[in-house]
Amino acid sequence: MVHLGNYLGAIRPALSLAEQFESFLFIADYHALTTMREPAKMREYTYDVAATWLACGLDPEQIHIYRQSDRPEVFELTWALACVLATGQLERGHAYKAALDKGEAPNAGIFNYPVLMAADIVLYDADVVPVGKDQLQHLEVTRDAAQRVNHLFGEGTLVVPDPHISEGPLVPGLDGEKMSKSKGNAIPLFAPAKQLRKTVMKIVTGSEPLEAPKPSDGTTVFELYKLVADEEKVGALREKLENGGYGWGHAKQDLYEALEAELGPKRDTYHRLMADHAEIDRVLAHGAERAKPIAQATLARVRDAVGIGKA
Ligand code: ADP
Repeated sequence: MVHLGNYLGAIRPALSLAEQFESFLFIADYHALTTMREPAKMREYTYDVAATWLACGLDPEQIHIYRQSDRPEVFELTWALACVLATGQLERGHAYKAALDKGEAPNAGIFNYPVLMAADIVLYDADVVPVGKDQLQHLEVTRDAAQRVNHLFGEGTLVVPDPHISEGPLVPGLDGEKMSKSKGNAIPLFAPAKQLRKTVMKIVTGSEPLEAPKPSDGTTVFELYKLVADEEKVGALREKLENGGYGWGHAKQDLYEALEAELGPKRDTYHRLMADHAEIDRVLAHGAERAKPIAQATLARVRDAVGIGKA
């Protein structure tokens, strides 16, 4: 379930960042296979991710969006990169170590996860990769792989990408803690308007009486409002709260209305797309086709550099 924190904290900032670069966004279905064991869910998940991003405003003419699995070049490149990376580096991988720490027997896909991720990045000659701080390690593997290929087989074979640390705003949940799907404090992104309103009304607030002046900044309702309402409206709500005579119920109604204005049209698009898988398939196929020449060119450089195929 996609929630408001994902949208305001990750999707919206990513779409705004993408305006400055030629951007590639793929649905990491083969990465998901490291844990996914239900084929029907896998397909649904793919459509869901695509519909969510498209509904949130991704323009497929501007951003290349496709399934990871639709560009088979990435798997050949994964092998080439695996052959230059040390197992010790992969043994230090977060996901692999976490699985071991939990006493699980991780599959080789989890072990190799960072190699596939490296291939996903260098296949498209990426100059910059937007990452959260916790993902820096994955990019280190990518940079090491590209540098080793260049060192061993010729400078310029692969582009060594730089991280672009992107921190979106931290979005509070109903209880004021970080909104998270596992904490039961999330506002679902595409819930029907009625349910959205009901959820907003559950936000924990102070218990000041109606007439009392109320704090604005730092309260969950106001912080969420700041993320969706325009400056003028934010100023107006701040004044009303601080003057008193305006209850938290009123402020929540304002928040609901701002959220509905922002999310209502996106919800409609999301449901329209989810009812039309063929449309999503067309968009993803178009993205994969546009990503193809650059993927093929990178792979040809690598094959040539390492000595695979005819002279
Ligand atoms: P969750 O924490 O609900 O499991 P994920 O870990 O799947 O969410 O996060 C997906 C993306 O959404 C990540 O980029 C993450 O940083 C962002 N994100 C999730 N929750 C929040 C939040 N409360 N505020 C800001 N960004 C968030």
